Amino acid sequence: MARPNRFFDVIRIGPVEVGSFNNSRGQTRHAAACTAPKCGFSTEHGNRSAAELAARTHRCPA
Ligand SMILES: [Zn+2]
Repeated sequence: MARPNRFFDVIRIGPVEVGSFNNSRGQTRHAAACTAPKCGFSTEHGNRSAAELAARTHRCPA
């Protein structure tokens, strides 16, 4: 997933960053993306708590 330009409220949970952004439709979306170079884990969610949960439960293989 390409990193959106306007990420805000970025937090870090282990190797995973969680941030919110506005998509092209003006909706707020929430992403969790692992920063480990070989991992590639990223998810997008409609609410913040789901993104944070995905980050917390990510088991990084890298
Ligand atoms: Zn990972």
